[in-house]
Amino acid sequence: MSGLKQILIAGGGIGGLATALGLAQQGCRCLVLERAPQLGEIGAGIQLGPNAFHAFDYLGVGDAARAMAVYVDALRLMDALTGEEIASVPLDEPFRKRFGNPYAVVHRGDLHGVFLQACRDSPLIELRTSAEVLHYEQNGSSVTANLANGDTAEGAGLIGADGLMSKVRAQLVGDGLPIVSGHSTYRSVIPAEQMPEGLRWNAATLWAGPKCHLVHYPLSGWKLFNLVVTCHNNAPDHVTGKPVTYDEMLPGFAHISKRALKILEHGTGWKLWVLCDRAPITNWVDGRVVLLGDAAHPMLQYMAQGACMAMEDAVCLSHEVAAAGRDFERAFENYRKKRLLRTARVQLQSRAIGEHIYHPGGAHAKLRNAIMRSMSAEDYYDSLQWLYGGSGLAEGSCAFR
Ligand SMILES: Cc1cc2nc3c(=O)[nH]c(=O)nc-3n(C[C@H](O)[C@H](O)[C@H](O)COP(=O)(O)OP(=O)(O)OC[C@H]3O[C@@H](n4cnc5c(N)ncnc54)[C@H](O)[C@@H]3O)c2cc1C
Repeated sequence: MSGLKQILIAGGGIGGLATALGLAQQGCRCLVLERAPQLGEIGAGIQLGPNAFHAFDYLGVGDAARAMAVYVDALRLMDALTGEEIASVPLDEPFRKRFGNPYAVVHRGDLHGVFLQACRDSPLIELRTSAEVLHYEQNGSSVTANLANGDTAEGAGLIGADGLMSKVRAQLVGDGLPIVSGHSTYRSVIPAEQMPEGLRWNAATLWAGPKCHLVHYPLSGWKLFNLVVTCHNNAPDHVTGKPVTYDEMLPGFAHISKRALKILEHGTGWKLWVLCDRAPITNWVDGRVVLLGDAAHPMLQYMAQGACMAMEDAVCLSHEVAAAGRDFERAFENYRKKRLLRTARVQLQSRAIGEHIYHPGGAHAKLRNAIMRSMSAEDYYDSLQWLYGGSGLAEGSCAFR
């Protein structure tokens, strides 16, 4: 037992702030140590499955998060070569009834802002910026985080929510740099009135083409369309948010239909990411230190679940801390056991979906179209039950139905 000592959280992204909120709800004091000089998020949109809403409610931000979401009517799959629709999965009442919550899209900054405000409102949460965690030491009853600015911070436990390039993971696991996928993602936004008129759909739309795809959906009360386009061009190095021109983005998409190409012409403020992930691992815990979110299970974005999984982690971790009576070593181990297979499945399935749905060409793409055209809404819902039917909360969160 660790009395009333604070818990340290490395990283003030969606995972770190959600965890601070969850732990504060269990009466734990938290100190969030964020590397950046300001707390915030880059990139425009994020998709939220029903499992994200279960987590919002548990974390006490359900109403605020619901207020800024756009509720899309469908997940629409288009063939980027022919310009034709392959499938459309309705997200209406039967979907909501089955999974207990809606599917939505939201601006990242808005979502992060909801968590940030709730953290600022909590007397149990302290947020410290310009506080990069470099490494940690522990002595069996507490953990000390050593910061890049020479300071130290002490707590009853340390949660590494410091993202893809996690320093906590580097020490805890020591498995080197993440795997560069070779996939380049260009993010942009389109003012809603400039989106080609026939494509102003209230849907999360995916145009799938050989070695490339486009995703778009409305955002920020229909003022904008979020546009994220990806090509598999064997990019060698990890890149995060590098500004690029339209001409630098275009070559990976030159082969797609005019209808899809037209969308790209309207993008503004293009930024480049080269995507990375890792294979699942089992060792997330070192005594009083534990990994969470992208630090634990970084994944490609093809299931749109990285942030959803980080929020589920936060729910499960705070639940386990309370259940173990703040015996952090036991709580962290229980959390690891509950989260491991579910997150591993999302990591691996994200890779598989990239290969078999987002980027195939030729006969492989024809097979994709034939299979996906033959599926009913119920078939799609059945295939998503294990994911959207879970909440991250205790029993059932790793269910494989
Ligand atoms: C193109 C793209 C699209 C995506 N779309 C979706 C989607 O639609 N739906 C979805 O659910 N997910 C999506 N994701 C995934 C999602 O963005 C991430 O999984 C999620 O942001 C992970 O949250 P996190 O808090 O674990 O890590 P991060 O968001 O990376 O936050 C880590 C934080 O830690 C800080 N930090 C880093 N190092 C240190 C350190 N040493 N000390 C202190 N602080 C540190 C960072 O500054 C940052 O604030 C997408 C990702 C990409 C790339």
